[in-house]
Amino acid sequence: MADTPTPMMQQYLALKQEAGDALLFYRMGDFFELFFDDARVASRVLDIALTTRGEHGGQPVPMCGVPVHSAEGYLARLIKGGCRVAIAEQTETPDEARERAKREGSPVSKALVARDIVRLVTAGTLTEEALLEPRRANLLVAIAPVRDALGLACCDISTGRMELEECTADALDAALARLGASEVVAPDDWDEAFPDIIARPRADFRSEAGEARLKDIHSVATLDGLGSFTRPMLAAAAGLIAYLDHAGRGTLPFLLPPVARGSGAHLAMDAATRMSLEILEAQGGGRAGSLIACVDRCATGAGARQLAEDLSAPLADRNAIEQRLAGVHYFHADPLLRADLRAILRQAPDIGRALGRLVAGRGSPRDLGQIRDGLSEARRIRDILASGTDLPTLLSRMIDALGGHAALVDHLARALVPSPPTERGQGGFIASGYDHSLDALREISGNARKAIAALEAKYREETDTASLKVKHNKVLGYFIEVPAKHGDKLMAADSGFTHRQTMAGAVRFNSLGLHEEATRIAEAGAHALAAEDGHFEELVGEVVAAREAIAATAAALARIDVCSALAERAVEGDWARPEMLDEPCLEINGGRHPVVEQALAKTGDRFVVNDCTLGPDDRLWLIGGPNMGGKSTFLRQNAIIMLLAQAGSFVPAASARIGLADRLFSRVGASDNLARGRSTFMVEMVETAAILSQATEKSFVILDEVGRGTSTYDGMALAWAVVEAVHENLQCRCLFATHYHELSRLADTCDALSLHHVRAREWKGDLVLLHELAKGAADRSYGLSVAKLAGVPPPVIKRAKAVLDKLEKGREKTGGLAAGLGELPLFAASAQAEEKDRDALRDALHALDIDALSPRDALDKLYELKATAGETKA
Ligand code: ADP
Repeated sequence: MADTPTPMMQQYLALKQEAGDALLFYRMGDFFELFFDDARVASRVLDIALTTRGEHGGQPVPMCGVPVHSAEGYLARLIKGGCRVAIAEQTETPDEARERAKREGSPVSKALVARDIVRLVTAGTLTEEALLEPRRANLLVAIAPVRDALGLACCDISTGRMELEECTADALDAALARLGASEVVAPDDWDEAFPDIIARPRADFRSEAGEARLKDIHSVATLDGLGSFTRPMLAAAAGLIAYLDHAGRGTLPFLLPPVARGSGAHLAMDAATRMSLEILEAQGGGRAGSLIACVDRCATGAGARQLAEDLSAPLADRNAIEQRLAGVHYFHADPLLRADLRAILRQAPDIGRALGRLVAGRGSPRDLGQIRDGLSEARRIRDILASGTDLPTLLSRMIDALGGHAALVDHLARALVPSPPTERGQGGFIASGYDHSLDALREISGNARKAIAALEAKYREETDTASLKVKHNKVLGYFIEVPAKHGDKLMAADSGFTHRQTMAGAVRFNSLGLHEEATRIAEAGAHALAAEDGHFEELVGEVVAAREAIAATAAALARIDVCSALAERAVEGDWARPEMLDEPCLEINGGRHPVVEQALAKTGDRFVVNDCTLGPDDRLWLIGGPNMGGKSTFLRQNAIIMLLAQAGSFVPAASARIGLADRLFSRVGASDNLARGRSTFMVEMVETAAILSQATEKSFVILDEVGRGTSTYDGMALAWAVVEAVHENLQCRCLFATHYHELSRLADTCDALSLHHVRAREWKGDLVLLHELAKGAADRSYGLSVAKLAGVPPPVIKRAKAVLDKLEKGREKTGGLAAGLGELPLFAASAQAEEKDRDALRDALHALDIDALSPRDALDKLYELKATAGETKA
């Protein structure tokens, strides 16, 4: 016979069903408990003990739990571990449950406390300080496929930022790579869904619903004033908001009016480019070693988040870039101003995120304090900036956003204590003098506490027991305690004490006087708490009403932080303001790779600066030279300099003239992508194909060692054809590093191509890599010297040398691998000619009917085939 589950188990199972694949945190007193598979998962991820509790279906129920007061830390680890968590809270007290049972006529002793899922905690819907990384935005993205297009909606509910865009299926990967979302949702019937995507009902993604919700949230009759949004964008917005509703159980978090992101406003980069330039993350994962780690000198988390966004999506609009550069220049030129501002910023709390929590209904008194402090720091910064002369446009635009909160700041300053607590329930955050009735209540409980201290002294004297104490605990409240040996004195009927509890070594009592004072404290305390709570609600209401203005202040602070931090970085690294142009050129004097330079500096090594001068007549540089000679570094430093400049930063160079690019492509070393399940060569070709189909005349492409993933012949042939295609068809700026010596012959046929190499010298039999770029083809490859440098044993090197000599002799005779390639028509011409070559041998074999051959015929055929093969080879 199957057991009937206990009422608690029934309640649990119903809630678990509602939670779906999220882990269910089931509140029981001071713990959140997890059961069944949830418990197994959580105990593994959190490394906490797995126990059992009761039985279900004849089996012990696995269980583990985390204390409520430290739940945030555990939640953080679960979210990091890829879990989602549904929080089921008790929605009534045990007393209320018993009252309800009485009313309903069910057994009071077994009354079950009602519970409900109050929130779904997911990676993309966090607002808690402890769960968020201060220097990283936390994005939730919704994808809505609508006919041929995809709508993308993204928001960071910790600050309210929301953006909508539309892209094609091809561009989706690049867009997602740019956004770096913590969580992605899409309709459950979408064919292109990838792992980790959260499937939501198709009905959630209706553009009319999206439009209606946005109008409603922002109280506007039409969205026209906010921007122009397409159907796919609105469908994505609908899906996003529906998911937020679902996760917040109906409480919508903070959303600012959406911004429509136009295509073409930014320097486009695909996922592979981002990865190879290591913009926000180094190849091995993590921030250390990335470009942002090397550039970021922001004083605030909000500034660091803004900088990450700027580097992820550099601009393609010259005017906007110039405005940012002028902002950086302003702080660059004034070290004192910069130091002053940065000192203030360093103390400014993260008001954007505090606001996010308050609007989401998860705010604390501390968040109100942060808003107060942040807004008043903003005001100080405003005053400093406003007193300056010749403020650049970007900064003067900030002036208004930084001020204008005087009344709110004043109110918060009067109402709150200097550092309000994170706990709202305990009170103690409203300043004295703000509310006289609250002060009076506090005085009552203060006096009562004093009275209790006086009672203790009095009872000690009366009972002649120096060890008598008045104590307090949660269960008994106030009580009098004496050691067991003095208990009898107080037990006497006329002692005025009533017995409450006998412990191992002590006895506890109550008294009328104590009871009266305790009641006074409890009553005054409850009233005071209620009063503070009321003030809290009122203050939060005031902040929420000003949310858009506060968010604008937060954004202005972040932008000022970015400008001054970039100025700081420029001074520190002796960076230069780039000159931005519309012509397709890239003239960099004394360029450096900031990350490599920083790494070298740690070991006391010097970075060798190099120039790059690409222009309409010389737009493709073919760069040869030994491995480890600095080719990749040179390629990347130029791409990074362009990226930094278009993000509005100074650049690590003595000077730079940069023609705006529309797209940036970087392919450097495909060898690390094996983990993604494709062969190195396949990855390389897929990525090269993307460049050939997407780059325009305004793009900048860096290609490193294309073709090295396959055999020498294949690889060189492909590299050859790719260089030609870039030169003839794309006609974009390109740096192409290769160790195929033979490609240098391309210089004979390609006018806008020039040859360069990284210099190396042999000194006393050892190879010295100079990391210096020079004109002309590399004289030889130095492969053996590099191998020697790497510690390959001398006998092996010697043997290799003998083989090489032999090969080189052969090359002299035949003219080498690339013999005759110079006469090939160029890519553009040859691509149109149909491929006519046929494999005679294969055709002949194919035509053979083996079963129909006599042994004699077969032998003849073999001779024939051998002759054909001989011809092909000759
Ligand atoms: P390649 O692509 O030619 O194999 P890399 O660009 O990977 O060479 O450079 C190899 C190493 O040489 C780098 O890790 C760096 O330590 C050093 N290096 C590269 N460029 C420079 C430079 N300009 N100045 C000093 N050291 C450099």
